[in-house]
Amino acid sequence: MTYKPVFIRMAAAGNFERKFLLEFQKELQNLFWEHGIKATCFFSNSGSIEIDKIPSGAYTSHIGKYNTHTLFAYGQQKREESLKKVGKLDALIKVLVIVDVEIFKQGFTGTLFGEAEVGKEIAIISTAPLENHFKSSFLIKERALKEAMHELGHTLGLDHCKTPGCSMNISKDIYDIDEKKKTYCINCLNILFQGHP
Ligand SMILES: [Zn+2]
Repeated sequence: MTYKPVFIRMAAAGNFERKFLLEFQKELQNLFWEHGIKATCFFSNSGSIEIDKIPSGAYTSHIGKYNTHTLFAYGQQKREESLKKVGKLDALIKVLVIVDVEIFKQGFTGTLFGEAEVGKEIAIISTAPLENHFKSSFLIKERALKEAMHELGHTLGLDHCKTPGCSMNISKDIYDIDEKKKTYCINCLNILFQGHP
């Protein structure tokens, strides 16, 4: 099975270590290739790792968290910048915004791990709720990869899935995340590959 090439612009904002982001980028790209999806993950037009400050205006003081509305706009800006690098108007370009602060969206009161709209271009994940008392960056990375596959899956057209272990399972807490895998189930793959002979 093959799939149209996908370009994934990674936009990191916050206090991230370069080593963490580099490993995350490589592993995310490998995961897509293992699914037969030719993804190119990159952090900037030059290819080097760029780490931004959290966009101003994202912090919402009466909630004490950062709103995804502003982060979507930040992601959109990165996408436009990336169009110049990719150069092809019909290319599939998605953006993965990664932040290390707690995020929220209007009308949702639980812990928000990430957000994306089905079939749209921007996915957001936060590593803040993925922290653990082991202080293990490996565990944070594993959980972040699952959430990245989940949110990017939405941008590629996938909905939530109930097949046990599929990345597209809904996660209410970190235990749910730990239960699932970094991969899509066969049903989700079939949906992805429809129309992509
Ligand atoms: Zn699935």
